[in-house]
Amino acid sequence: MKPVTLLMMEALNERMNLDAEEKRYLGNLLKGFNGEFAFSERLGDLKCEHILLKDLIFDPKYSGQIQLDALLFIKDCVIIYEVKNYSGDWIHGSECYRNGDIEIPNPLIQATRTKNNFKRLLSELGFDGIFVEACVVFVNPEFTLYQAEADKNVIFASQINAHIARLEQYARPYSFEFNRLSSALRAAALPDKVFHKQIPAYRFDTLQKGIRCSVCGCLVQGISQRRYQCNRCGFIGLNNEAVIRALQEFQLLFPEKRLNGRLLSEWCDGVLSHSQCKKIMKERLTQNFE
Ligand SMILES: [Zn+2]
Repeated sequence: MKPVTLLMMEALNERMNLDAEEKRYLGNLLKGFNGEFAFSERLGDLKCEHILLKDLIFDPKYSGQIQLDALLFIKDCVIIYEVKNYSGDWIHGSECYRNGDIEIPNPLIQATRTKNNFKRLLSELGFDGIFVEACVVFVNPEFTLYQAEADKNVIFASQINAHIARLEQYARPYSFEFNRLSSALRAAALPDKVFHKQIPAYRFDTLQKGIRCSVCGCLVQGISQRRYQCNRCGFIGLNNEAVIRALQEFQLLFPEKRLNGRLLSEWCDGVLSHSQCKKIMKERLTQNFE
């Protein structure tokens, strides 16, 4: 599932004018998400016994906040994957990577810090003595890192297949502890964090109203009584389904606003009437409580 911040930025991108900086932020979020998604799909293909957890945030009592892209439980260890979708030519440095004037902190340093914090979290949860590894995965084949020495904790796109094959080869059934541990971690994880600082200010009355295409996400115009046809990608979808997505989008963007049929109808630019929107809300509410 996409992170909430990304969903909000995508919605705002369709409903208001983002400036260049905001568009770049959205682009980076999307790139990061696509990279993580592609890599965890690969891990999900593992045939040997494993548990894969994705996108977890923790705030342990005795260490800094931890954000994990992917966490794999396999044989007798836990592997933390920090996934990076960087592209271009970079020069390796122990503190940072450089591309012309741009510098980014060496992600291996972050991964090591995450590993140490994570070990403290495990101990807080009553799981000691588990072997933890932290790897940085560069998923983009168009990423080159000059002057980097071989490091078993750094996996480049060209090495992902070999890494997965190695996991398959050495994997043995894991102990029962991992089921217990993964449940404990799921319970301790914080809800998805919204990065409010990076999200531009917005108001209901200034955002563009309408329903969005389920395939490409753009606001649609060609709407008949029951269906819409997207002008951008040509997809034909049902109005009702688009209104349900708009409802979820509204709740994401305005969690404090009380929604009613009239407001939802206005949010969807009148695609459905007040009473039709009210009916949809009622159905959704029943479903949520089922
Ligand atoms: Zn479309």
